[in-house]
Amino acid sequence: MSILVKIADLDLSGKTVLVREDYNVPLKNGEVTDDTRIRATLPTINQLLAAEAKIILISHLGRPKAGEYDDAFSLAPVAKRLSELLDCEVPLIRDWVNGVDMGEHNIVLCENARFEAGETKDDEELSRKMAQMCQVYINDAFATAHRAQASTHGVAKYAAVAAAGPLLITELKALTKALRDPAKPLVAIVGGAKVSTKLTILETLSEKVDQLIVGGGIANTFLKSAGYEIGKSLYEPDLVNVASSLLEKAKEKGCDIPLPVDVIVGKEFNENAKATIKPISEVEADDMIMDVGPKTSKLLNTYINDAATIVWNGPLGVFEFDQFSQGTASLSKSIAASNAYSIAGGGDTIAAISKFKIADDISYISTGGGAFLEFLEGKKLPAIELLEEAARAWEAMEKAREL
Ligand code: AMP
Repeated sequence: MSILVKIADLDLSGKTVLVREDYNVPLKNGEVTDDTRIRATLPTINQLLAAEAKIILISHLGRPKAGEYDDAFSLAPVAKRLSELLDCEVPLIRDWVNGVDMGEHNIVLCENARFEAGETKDDEELSRKMAQMCQVYINDAFATAHRAQASTHGVAKYAAVAAAGPLLITELKALTKALRDPAKPLVAIVGGAKVSTKLTILETLSEKVDQLIVGGGIANTFLKSAGYEIGKSLYEPDLVNVASSLLEKAKEKGCDIPLPVDVIVGKEFNENAKATIKPISEVEADDMIMDVGPKTSKLLNTYINDAATIVWNGPLGVFEFDQFSQGTASLSKSIAASNAYSIAGGGDTIAAISKFKIADDISYISTGGGAFLEFLEGKKLPAIELLEEAARAWEAMEKAREL
């Protein structure tokens, strides 16, 4: 992993720090319904309090109209929950752009960054103002690291010191361990609806992994390219050629991408559709493939059992409908039972992990949907790139000071 400035590298006593957290939490009737993300930031806050820093927290919440205050997207419920968890008042600052008077408080929360017109545009003026609010900027929000916005990116350009928070570092370490320096064999499972949304991931992973497994609607396009009848199943005609070249390349590498040998089909796409298990060779013209069959699950489990590192994104079937969830359930169980280092992420994958109750048995669950996927694609995340640049500048400054 590249060099980043960490909290422990800095003397923060009496200094004002602006900390970008991810408080994009679910709300109902003005209350936080799941405070996992808030709780996750408590160690960072406590470390900063112990270092005697003055903490200004900043985050976005939802997608309000840029430049307008909207009660529905206020961070007030987060301020309330944070105050309860920390057992001290965390005031919510509505107008923070031109500086925050913290008074007697050691910790405050800025109102939704996206109420500022320049936030999502990575506006220079707003970024500069954010930088002026603090002596040190700390980015602790991996989930937004793929977005170049004022509070995740621009501010790091202008802040005197820009550091990475512990949550962000933990996430980067886990992803780097799984992808940049994995214990072998590395097995990746890419499921979900469409090849098109995961094309770069499939191409990048196919180069890196020892074994690629495809599932869900994605596998249908691969089945089609291999000449199988897939009836009315979801697939992408435009990507059949891409699928066949991926199959070809894997074969040349000596690690075939295994295709389902049996499937679970329905005649219509709904939660009451009757599920029928059949060998792949018996799929009829009016069938929809909605899941992999038990023989395929058994086969896939052998790959999981042999793996030293497992990367998982995307379900193997329409797991939201119970009768088509067995493939994803069986995969979840075998990942959970495996001794391999396992990492999983992406919205539907997290929903599956929670449905099959295996969260405790996955080595690391990524908090970043989009950021996780872009990391899998091998892309440089803009927020991380800037933290790295800032770390190089900081190191040079420290060296100069020592001379
Ligand atoms: P993604 O967001 O690309 O990870 O896709 C997740 C969605 O793919 C889930 O909502 C699944 O229901 C859906 N899915 C998985 N397998 C299939 C399939 N065989 N046919 C249609 N949809 C599928």
